[in-house]
Amino acid sequence: MSAFESMWADLAPVGRAASGGYRRYAWTATDATLRDWFRAEAGARGLGVATDRAGNLWAWTADPDTDGPGLVLGSHLDSVPDGGAFDGPLGIVSAFAALDLLRARGFAPRRPVGIACFADEEGARFGVACAGSRLLTGALDPDRARSLTDDDGTTMAEAMAAAGHDAAGLGRDDDALRRIGAFLELHVEQGRALADAHDGAGAAVGVASSILPHGRWRLDLRGRADHAGTTRLADRDDPMLALAAAVLAARSAAERHGTVATVGKVRVRPNGVNAIPSSVTAWLDARGPLEDAVRAVVDEVGDAAGSAPVEESWTPATAFDPELRDRLGALLAAPVLATGAGHDAGVLAAAGIPAAMLFVRNPTGVSHSPAEHADPDDCSAGVDALARAVEALA
Ligand SMILES: [Zn+2]
Repeated sequence: MSAFESMWADLAPVGRAASGGYRRYAWTATDATLRDWFRAEAGARGLGVATDRAGNLWAWTADPDTDGPGLVLGSHLDSVPDGGAFDGPLGIVSAFAALDLLRARGFAPRRPVGIACFADEEGARFGVACAGSRLLTGALDPDRARSLTDDDGTTMAEAMAAAGHDAAGLGRDDDALRRIGAFLELHVEQGRALADAHDGAGAAVGVASSILPHGRWRLDLRGRADHAGTTRLADRDDPMLALAAAVLAARSAAERHGTVATVGKVRVRPNGVNAIPSSVTAWLDARGPLEDAVRAVVDEVGDAAGSAPVEESWTPATAFDPELRDRLGALLAAPVLATGAGHDAGVLAAAGIPAAMLFVRNPTGVSHSPAEHADPDDCSAGVDALARAVEALA
């Protein structure tokens, strides 16, 4: 069994749900198991591990404070609800495997190489994506982060404390940022661009050009709870009707404006089969190549719902470092593509850190689902590409 296969086998059972998908949420016992695994893999390779103020983990081949800044690889280990095995872990497992490959080849980096494990990338528990990298760069206000709650009412501060991380120290971490000369995240592709590349011949690995503008909005729809059997239709104030209009508007507006829009999370009160809801809270995710088009979709959804959407997060178009992108594209002879998915690499790029991404082909393009997949040969190609990138950049 290769080191890659053995790491993959170690991670396979952690946080696996009956659905076959993963529930790896930030600052839970499952998360602690994953973080311990990361520390153990780093330790087995003689890497020192540091934790930054946000709780992100950094494994270094040498001291980045004296010999840095370094080249950092990495990704995240948390998942969306019932997510796939590849989104996040592929980047970290591939980073360790690339380091092994380079050592076997006798490559000696001229500067420290780091492997990062970002905390809470998916925002599955507290609702803010890339919380670890946004806290690190100062893009997420520490007071807001500490007071975010999960579905059980536990705050992020309480969850961090229970996991042994002091939330009082949250805030932009200039010491950790100074150590990053460049960041390179390998990620499973969340689309079919690589499978369809070269007129359908496909490509195993691609290079990211940019992340499309994207955001999350909340719709607070209020009505009046009442009996489903005895209340005349004319007397009802049913917020579910506003939700239905909003969902249909999201679809049609997205089609007209050339974006995507999704209502994937809904909370209904009191949530009874025989009760007209008193309130419906729904979340809209909208993304597209043009910021104005995304904004137009959100406005139309608000009009259809009769309630102004509340913005919970917004990320403008993020271009990756052009020099890194071009260098990697040429080095790997890989297609260059934009993505609609947010990533920690995008947060770092937005903070002015030279950042780049490699994508590994996903044959179906399906992601955030147990069906997410990458073939073993393509995973090997990803490790090789990462190793070649390190040779060129470190
Ligand atoms: Zn991811």
